[in-house]
Amino acid sequence: MTTFTIKDGILSGATFVPSPNFNTRPTTDDKPAITGIVIHNISLPPSQFGQTDKTGTHFVKAFFQNKLDPNDHDYFKTIAHLEVSAHLFIERHGAVTQFVNFNERAWHAGQSCYLGRANCNDFTIGIELEGDDFSPFSDKQYNTLAQIIVAIYHAYPATKRHLMGHSDIAPIRKTDPGEFFDWGRLRKLVHEHL
Ligand SMILES: [Zn+2]
Repeated sequence: MTTFTIKDGILSGATFVPSPNFNTRPTTDDKPAITGIVIHNISLPPSQFGQTDKTGTHFVKAFFQNKLDPNDHDYFKTIAHLEVSAHLFIERHGAVTQFVNFNERAWHAGQSCYLGRANCNDFTIGIELEGDDFSPFSDKQYNTLAQIIVAIYHAYPATKRHLMGHSDIAPIRKTDPGEFFDWGRLRKLVHEHL
């Protein structure tokens, strides 16, 4: 079993693949810089899991590195120009990739608001699960996610009890992680690892 720990914003147990899509978190004098965790789902092409390009690079990893080839799929023509990222991506079999140091601001939430505070990218860690709104997530994904959340709680205690879905902070635009994401199961697993 992989053990996840965080040092200087880097998750051990993850493969680091740098994304150019990040910037500095705004400074906050009165509160900690990182105060929440946002859960997303993504699959490229939509609802296809584990697909790779000609070089063997997972499409989602290519996307977060601005290397998605618009000629590989019609859908990619509509998104290949976007500059986005997440801190972490958890594949169906549980492999974890980190694209952005947690201490930096990844670009995953877009226009968003949590407890009256706008621009959630500023103060959250973004985690993408490989999936869609129509399929259950894998056991590996729940277990891995729960262990990582516990590691984040230890490194950034202000994130505790501030777990949110993308759909919670951008309800008009976003539906992920979707109806199939079992928040009760995740919370129970997190509690077991605490
Ligand atoms: Zn999302």
